[in-house]
Amino acid sequence: MAPSCTDGVNALAGSCVFCEIVEGRRKAAILHEDSEVLAFRDILPQAPTHILIVPKTHFRSASAVTDPAVWGKLMAVAGRLVSELGLEEEGYRLVVNNGPQAGQTIPHLHVHLLAGRAFRWPPG
Ligand code: 5GP
Ligand code: ZN
Repeated sequence: MAPSCTDGVNALAGSCVFCEIVEGRRKAAILHEDSEVLAFRDILPQAPTHILIVPKTHFRSASAVTDPAVWGKLMAVAGRLVSELGLEEEGYRLVVNNGPQAGQTIPHLHVHLLAGRAFRWPPG
């Protein structure tokens, strides 16, 4: 059985979908890549623009992050994409689902960047 990804390490032999994308073993439409962060289009978009921003290092959820710099790097990429894609004026939503009740389905930390339609509040 393939070993599970472990928080805080790159999971070369792991079974995490987003680690596979980070490692180039699974295809994705990549919009941004640097040494620590990858951003790619969601395979099942919930809005005209739906991008996932992930740390290259595996964290199972927001709760597993102890270094606040991780958030800084993810948010910096979000801001850059918002600017590059011209999303500021109409607005956009950043979402982090954590755990079963929040609907997290992929246990590798990711920020959803959604735009291109009106979003309801409170969220469903
Ligand atoms: P969550 O529900 O965990 O907050 O979000 C996981 C997201 O990952 C979902 O929006 C889902 O559509 C997306 N996703 C799942 N598998 C893949 C994949 O193989 N490639 C891409 N690009 N997105 C995926
Ligand atoms: Zn992972």
